This record gives sequence, C-alpha cells and structure tokens, in this order.
Amino acid sequence: MVRDWKPRTRAVHVGSRRSQYGELSEAIFLTQGFMYDNAELAEARFIEAKSDEFIYARYGNPTVAMFEDRIAGLEGSEDAFATASGMAAVSGVLMAMLKQGDHVVSSRALFGSCLYVLDEILPRFGVDVTFVDGLSLEQWSNAIGSRTKAVFCESMSNPTLEVIDIAEVSRRAKAVGAQLIVDNVFSTPVFSCALQAGADVVIYSSTKHIDGQGRALGGVILSTKEFIRKTVEPYMKHTGGSMSPFTAWIMLKGLETLDLRVNAQADTAFALSEVLHEHDKVVNLIYPGHPTHPQYDLIRYQMRKGGTVLSVEIEGGQAGAFRFMNGLRIAKISNNLGDAKTIVTHPSTTTHQRLSQQQRDHLGISPGLVRISIGLEDCGDLISDILNALKHV
Ligand SMILES: *Cc1c(COP(=O)(O)O)cnc(C)c1O
Repeated sequence: MVRDWKPRTRAVHVGSRRSQYGELSEAIFLTQGFMYDNAELAEARFIEAKSDEFIYARYGNPTVAMFEDRIAGLEGSEDAFATASGMAAVSGVLMAMLKQGDHVVSSRALFGSCLYVLDEILPRFGVDVTFVDGLSLEQWSNAIGSRTKAVFCESMSNPTLEVIDIAEVSRRAKAVGAQLIVDNVFSTPVFSCALQAGADVVIYSSTKHIDGQGRALGGVILSTKEFIRKTVEPYMKHTGGSMSPFTAWIMLKGLETLDLRVNAQADTAFALSEVLHEHDKVVNLIYPGHPTHPQYDLIRYQMRKGGTVLSVEIEGGQAGAFRFMNGLRIAKISNNLGDAKTIVTHPSTTTHQRLSQQQRDHLGISPGLVRISIGLEDCGDLISDILNALKHV
C-alpha cells in the first residue's frame, strides 16, 4: 500500500484525484468557486466540508489539494497547507501560532526575508526574538527557556551552507514544549528527513527545487493534521496567502521529477567540488557533500547527499568574483536557486547587500564569495564553463 511505496513512487501517484473523464495527468481546476445542488447542501458544507468538498479557492481547491496530499506523502507528514510563496508559508506559520508576549529563538544565518519577519515584524506585535549562532548547541540551550513558544532555523544556511543539527535542537525545544519550525529549502524534500529528526513543522519555498524550472512562486507548510487544520488553515484562509490552482499544478508536476532532478544536480555539485577544492583561484570551497566540509559526518547522517548548491571564495575579492562571473557562458547570473539552469550569485552585493560589513563578516560572507546553484546541464560542459571562467580571474 501507499505507506510501503518508496519516495519516487509517491511523488508520481500520491494525491491524484480524477474527474469523471478519467484523465491520466492531473487536471487544473481553474475555478475560485464551487456550487451546491441545493441550499441545504450549501449550508451543510459551510458547517463542515469533507476532504473532497470545496467552498472557495482561498479555502481549498482540488488541484491545490492534490499538491498538498502529494508533498505530505513525500515528506511523511500527516498534512500540508500550500501557500502563495515561501515567505507566505514562513510568515503565515509564525503569525498563526504566536501572540503578544511569546518568545522565539532563531538561528542568525537566515534568508533575508526570513530575517526581516523575525527581526522587524514579530517584535512590532510584542513577540520577543532571540538570535543564536545555529552551530552552537550551547547557545541554543541558553536561549531556549520556559517562555519559548517557537524555535526557528534553516536546516542549511544561505550562502555559507552551515548545517543545523535538527535532532539536537529539537531535543532542546521539546524539553520546554516549544515547536521546532525548520525552513528546509536547501535540504530539499529528497535529502531531508527533518520531521523524522524531530522538527514539528517543515516549510518549503516550492519556488526553488519543487518547481525547479524557474516558473512560479509557491510554498508549503507541513505538520500534523491538528496543527495544519486548527492553527495554520484558519489563519491562511482568512488572510489570503493561499496557493493558486495554476501554481499548484506546476508544483504537482514538479514533484514527479524532483527526485531525479535534485539527485542529478547533487551529483554534478559533488563532481564540481572535487575539481574546485584544489583549484589555485579558489581560496575556499564550501560544499556540504565534500569531505572537507567541517560538518561532513552530520551531513552524511542527516542528508545522505550534499545538496545542489556550493559556495566558493574566489581569489582577488569582489574584483576576482566579478571577473569569474562575467567569464561564464553557460551558468547565468541571477538569484534564484534549485533551477534547471545553473545560477551564480554574488551575495555581498546582491542578496546580502542590506547587511552591514560587520554582519556579513560575522556570517562569513566575504567579498570574494560566489554561490553556485547547480542546474541540469551536462556535468562536463558545466565544469568546462567554470574552469574557463576561472582563467579570467
Ligand atoms: C527562497 C527562500 C525563501 C522564500 O521563498 P519565496 O518562495 O521566494 O517566497 C525562504 N527561505 C529560504 C531558505 C529560501 O531559499
């Protein structure tokens, strides 16, 4: 039965709902409304809608439900709620569960918009947030206390690819009854077992690997049925951050090829890390799947493979990094990740430009650092492109 299916089988079949036509591929239900055969049925549905009964697309839609069921099946969670973007998921889950006076502990190395929500928005509503160095279990222990309601981290930080020990942080959160929320984008649903490791809530920006072809914004919140239906759904359906049916269809079809894509990307990333770690124009290579990564043992245990992103510090600081990026022909300069196209990003002048130099130094974002999100191109072509561009440095 479904429970015995391996992830690749689940990613293709779980959640399918077919109309009377028996269509093989999933249908897009581009409708915001649903009708009722009589007034009594409308009344009954507003009292309690069953899983195949819909009211309004902000509350739920058949195509969106297929995506939610499929990703929940893949992640091994009881339930899921799909959102308009990754940030609608992050802000939604925090706003849905917190109230004035609550305390939150978060790792400091965060995606810029996550940092904004935790550092600027939550305090405005009387939520007290403490930031810690995610690698220091001592700092987590000291910060998490009896007032702590939520603990937040990204399982792998951007762009320096530090990996949080989810089981250890979870143990500290559970001891005080706090919920551990893991933004798992960089680990992907394929390499991660965040829920099994102890996370209470897992979030993805499906804009990244789940779409995987750079087309649409989306996100998803995964947790128990109780938490999704009692805490997340009421907030999301009334505040408007729900996923559109068209987006859900893109994400649903993305899930079918997710495993193949991210495994191919991770294999290319590893091959590239082998070439770059001894290259004389590369001052420092950061790849979680390479034995030189300081947390290599934890990564092998927590993720199996090293993921689809690597970061390299190029000789010559910003000027060296720019010469390298401008010398590339196949890899594109952009700021998405998990795409079919290989993308290079210079964090200190783009995604992390708003931080002070001191904050960047603290996070290890040097002027020479370039993040490379590996795409689906031929591995040999990509390595040639990158080696050729390094000659410009
Ligand atoms: C991209 C990203 C987000 C935000 O997702 P959007 O879909 O762009 O809203 C949140 N967290 C991490 C780690 C990300 O990489």
